[in-house]
Amino acid sequence: MHFHVITIFPEVCEAYTSASVLGRAQKTEKGKGAKVRGKKIEVSYYNPRDFSTDKHKKVDDRPYGGGPGMVMIAEPILKAWEKAVGRKIKNKKENSKNTVKTLIMSPRGTVFTNELAKEWAKEYKHLVLISGRYEGIDARVKEILNAEEVSVGDYVLTGGELPALTIIDSVSRQIPGVLGTFESLEDERATEGVSYTRPEVLKYKKAEYVVPEVLVNGNHAEIEKWRGAAEK
Ligand code: SAH
Repeated sequence: MHFHVITIFPEVCEAYTSASVLGRAQKTEKGKGAKVRGKKIEVSYYNPRDFSTDKHKKVDDRPYGGGPGMVMIAEPILKAWEKAVGRKIKNKKENSKNTVKTLIMSPRGTVFTNELAKEWAKEYKHLVLISGRYEGIDARVKEILNAEEVSVGDYVLTGGELPALTIIDSVSRQIPGVLGTFESLEDERATEGVSYTRPEVLKYKKAEYVVPEVLVNGNHAEIEKWRGAAEK
C-alpha cells in the first residue's frame, strides 16, 4: 500500500510515520536465515505550497460569499494530487483498474471505522489523503477528484494531519506483515478487556492494587474464561 499525503505540514506527519511499527513497515528487513522481507507500505508527502504559482506561495484565500477564515485554494492541491498519482502509477494494468482511492479529511465526512480500514487495505494500492487547514478546502477539489470525505469523529480539529495519520496507522495494521505475529494475535482481541504487567502488587498512595488472581495462576482455560467474562 502506498499512502500519499497532501499537507502543508509534512514534517509534522513524517515524524510519526517514520517511528515504530509504521517506520519498520517502510523498510526491507532481513528475516530469519537469508530471507528478506519487502516493504509493506510506502508513505510520500506532497506540500501544496510547492505547487503554488503565487509568488508568495499562497495556498489559501478568502471565501466567496463572505464568512470568517480562509479556504484552501484548489489548484495547488490538484497539482499535488497529479504528482502523487500521475508519476507513481506507471503500471498500465494498475491504471486501468481502480486501485487509487482519494480521501479528503473533513469533519462532515463519512465516519472512519476499523471496517473501512480493512476494506481499503484490501481493495486499494494507493490511498491519497488530503489534509485541510483553515476553514477547509475549495469544494471543487472533491468534485474533480471524485474523492470521498472522511471524518475521524464528531469533533473539530485545526487540521487534517491527525485524521490522515489516524487512517494511515489503522489501515497499515490491516496489511499482512505490518504487525508481527504476536501483535496480530493481539489484534484479534483488540477489544478484549484489560491488561496487567509487573509488579503483581502495585503500591500507590498507601493503597495496594493487586493483579486478578486468575491471571497469575497459569491456568489458560480459566484465563480465557475470565477474559470472556471481563469483556461483558
Ligand atoms: N469549519 C470547517 C472546519 C475546518 S477544520 C468545516 O466545517 O469544515 C480544518 C480542517 O481540519 C478540515 O479541513 C479537515 O481537513 C480537518 N478536520 C478537522 N476536524 C476533522 C475531523 N473530525 N475529521 C477529519 N478531518 C478533520
